[in-house]
Amino acid sequence: MSQILRFAPSPSGFLHVGGARTAIFNWLLARKCGGKLLLRIEDTNRQRSTEQSIKQIFSGLKWLGIDWDDEVLYQSKRRQRHIEAARQLLDSGHAYRCFCTKEELDEKRKIAQQNKIDNRYDRACRNLPQEAINEKLAKNHQFSVRFKTPQGEIFFNDIIHGETRINNETLDDFIILRSDGTPIYQLAVVVDDHDMGVTKILRGDDHLSNTSKQILIYQALNWQVPQFGHLPLILGADKVRLSKRHGAASVEEFRDQGILPQALFNYLCLLGWSTGDDKEIMDRNEIIQKFDEKRINNCPAIFDIKKLLWFNSKHIGLIPLDKVMPQVMAWLDQNSYQLNADESDRFQLFVKLQKDRASTLIELNESLHIYFKDPDNYEDKGVKKFFLKDSGEQLLQGLFEALSKEDSALFVDITKLDDYIRSFAEKNSVAAAKIIHPLR
Ligand code: GLU
Repeated sequence: MSQILRFAPSPSGFLHVGGARTAIFNWLLARKCGGKLLLRIEDTNRQRSTEQSIKQIFSGLKWLGIDWDDEVLYQSKRRQRHIEAARQLLDSGHAYRCFCTKEELDEKRKIAQQNKIDNRYDRACRNLPQEAINEKLAKNHQFSVRFKTPQGEIFFNDIIHGETRINNETLDDFIILRSDGTPIYQLAVVVDDHDMGVTKILRGDDHLSNTSKQILIYQALNWQVPQFGHLPLILGADKVRLSKRHGAASVEEFRDQGILPQALFNYLCLLGWSTGDDKEIMDRNEIIQKFDEKRINNCPAIFDIKKLLWFNSKHIGLIPLDKVMPQVMAWLDQNSYQLNADESDRFQLFVKLQKDRASTLIELNESLHIYFKDPDNYEDKGVKKFFLKDSGEQLLQGLFEALSKEDSALFVDITKLDDYIRSFAEKNSVAAAKIIHPLR
């Protein structure tokens, strides 16, 4: 059976790296098995959902190279269908009308708090006689619709956490339709996933507690339950869920900091998933080939910015020079730096060297200043350690004099230049580092 996966973000902010990783894993599964990845925007919370956020989700996904199949589905447009499903549950006796007023429920909550017991709905309306219901309806009493949680337990085999059992007694008779007629998230998700034909759902661990309720709804509607997998959270170094507090936490912020999409993609894949071999730097085709949901880890993953920068530097190193040059040239323009026609090769060589060292494109650009102007100052520690000590300055002068007599071909061959400097050091009976560091 061909798999149908989906990514279902709520558009209430940036595309967080946690959401991006969920999208990536679903995308990988879909692309690996030749299935589909659908995109659903869960915009039923009108106060929190914004157009801007929807745009950011689209652009973040596109930037990461995550494409989706079919039209984007907007949950808010499917309200009637959700209401219809609530009606179906009412008609089949899997749900009931709850006429308790907000004041009554608040009062019950207060008492539960005072007695330090769980504030679970006391099911006062669960078994109302039909005449009482009719009477209240005739008097236009407002009601919400609650799911009639049956006795028993829910069992599912989570792709990541394995066999999971939840005793129904821990669940409330939860509301599926509010008294203003708006559907609750739990119901909307199930109805949409069913109608979209979703067969596998990978989402964050924070939804684990929703899954049991959703499975009950599937069962009550006699619908096929999809396979669930709950991804462990991404934490900051302090073991708290990664958020803005830890610095950048959204795809856009990383993009603006000079992180490459292929590097973020690669790094996020390995946050909670392992290939089974030691290889870390991979392109997306290799990742698709290797991806196996069974190797997703069930422990939270720690986001390590240094590691991301390392991935980024490796991916920058992999970009061919001619692909980097246009952005470098644009940067030169912005900074009013000009190159003479005859120094193009030499400059490219310099960019190549810097490219292999930079951990972001911004860092690469910034490192190009020294090609055009002398540094304003030197790092004190470095000066003390290498330059003034042991006549470093004289050695450099000597090296420059020697180099000035050499053929210019030497300067475009890094290996030869390196050999040259090392043999110069040998001739002067000093360690190569004594020359290399001040030279830098
Ligand atoms: N809209 C939910 C979120 O952004 C995801 C719901 C789901 O994946 O079922 O967290």
